[in-house]
Amino acid sequence: MHIPFVDLRAQYETLKDEMTEAIRGVLNSAQFVGGEALASFERDFAAYCQVRYARGVANGTDALHLALRALGIGYGDEVITTAHTFIATAAAIVATGARPVFVDIDPDTYTIDPTMIERAVTDRTRAIIAVHLFGQPADMGPIKDIARRRGLYIVEDAAQAHGAEYRGVRTGALGDVACFSFYPAKNLGAYGDGGAVTTNSAAIAERIERLRDHGRTTHYSHAEIGFNSRLDALQAVVLQIKLRHLDEWNTDRRRAAEWYAAELAQSGLKTPFVRTGSTHVYHLYVIATNERDALRIKLDEAGVATGIHYPLPLHLQPALKHLGYRQGDLPCCEAMAARSLSLPMFPELTRDQVRRIAAIVGAVADRDGHKKLWWKSTYASAPLRADGGKELR
Ligand SMILES: *Cc1c(COP(=O)(O)O)cnc(C)c1O
Repeated sequence: MHIPFVDLRAQYETLKDEMTEAIRGVLNSAQFVGGEALASFERDFAAYCQVRYARGVANGTDALHLALRALGIGYGDEVITTAHTFIATAAAIVATGARPVFVDIDPDTYTIDPTMIERAVTDRTRAIIAVHLFGQPADMGPIKDIARRRGLYIVEDAAQAHGAEYRGVRTGALGDVACFSFYPAKNLGAYGDGGAVTTNSAAIAERIERLRDHGRTTHYSHAEIGFNSRLDALQAVVLQIKLRHLDEWNTDRRRAAEWYAAELAQSGLKTPFVRTGSTHVYHLYVIATNERDALRIKLDEAGVATGIHYPLPLHLQPALKHLGYRQGDLPCCEAMAARSLSLPMFPELTRDQVRRIAAIVGAVADRDGHKKLWWKSTYASAPLRADGGKELR
C-alpha cells in the first residue's frame, strides 16, 4: 500500500549481479582512487554529454565550487543564479568568496527568468549559474545571448538533469562548464556521493584535475592550494554500469509523468510545463496548488510519500541573511515555496501507483489552480518556514 518517494532498491535488484562483479573487480585491483576505472567512466560520461572532457569529483557541491574556481571566480565577484534551488548552488558561490545574486524564476518552468538576469548584471558580475531544475533545462538561448553580450561565463547546475536536452543539445554541453551530482537519488546516482564537471575547454579540465587533487602538479609539488575532492574507483564502476541505463530510465520517468498529466488533467492543478524544444527528465514531478499543505497530509495518511522542493527559497535562508534579501523580493520563488508539492517519481513507478496517487490528489483538487496568474498577485503572506509549515509522521 505504501508508495515511496523514490525506490532505489527496485533499481538495484535489476543490476545486482553486474554490480557485484564490477565491485569485486575494483577490490581485486586494489586501485581505489583514480586509475583506469575513473578514466574509463570519465570518457563514457563525456561522450554521453557530447563534450570533450568529464572530470569526476567527490560530489555535486564540489563540482560547482571547483568549476567556479577554475573560471577564476573569487572575492569581489558576483554570480547570478536562482533562489529556487538546493542550497548547494549558492553555497558553492559563497565558498569561492564571491557573492550570490538571486533573480526570480519563470512561473511556468520554475527555471531562472532570463529577463531578470539582464537587470541584475553589474560591473562585478562574472558568471551565471543556470540550474536545470527538476530535470528541465533552463532557457539557455536567451541566457547565452546575455552572457555573450556582457562577457559572462555560463555554469550549468545539471545535478537534476542528466540526459535532458535543450534544442537538441544535452545538458553538460550547454555552457562553459557544467556540474553534475551523482547523489544516490539523482537520475544517475552512485552508491554514495559523487559528482562530475564537464567542459569542452582543455584548460578548465586541467584546472579541475589540479583543484580536486591538492593543487598538485607532480606528486609533492603543489602549484596552488587545492582540495581533496575525487571520485573513487568503486563509484566510477557503479556509475559506468548505470550510465548505460540512463536513457531508458529517463524514458520511464517521462512515461510516468505522462500518466500523471493524463490523470490530473481535470484537477485544476498546475502540472509540469515542458518548454518547446526541450526534453524534461523528471528528476522530480512537482505540482503547484494553494491546497498544498492539506493535500500533503491526505497523501501521507494514505501512505504516499511526498516532498517539498523547496520550502524556503535561498534568498530567505538564515545562512544567507548577510546578503540582505527580504520576503517579497522574489515573488515567484516565494509563491512556489508555499505551493509546490513533489509527488513520487522514479523509473519503476507503475501505472497503478500513479492512478492511486492521482485519485487522492484529484479529490483535494484546487479550484483556483487553473488561474495561471495566481503567483503574480497572491504570494505567501505568512512567513515561509523551512519545514514547509507542518510535520508529517
Ligand atoms: C543535489 C544537488 C546539488 C548538490 O549535489 P551533491 O552531490 O549533493 O553535493 C547541487 N545542485 C542541485 C540543484 C542539486 O539538486
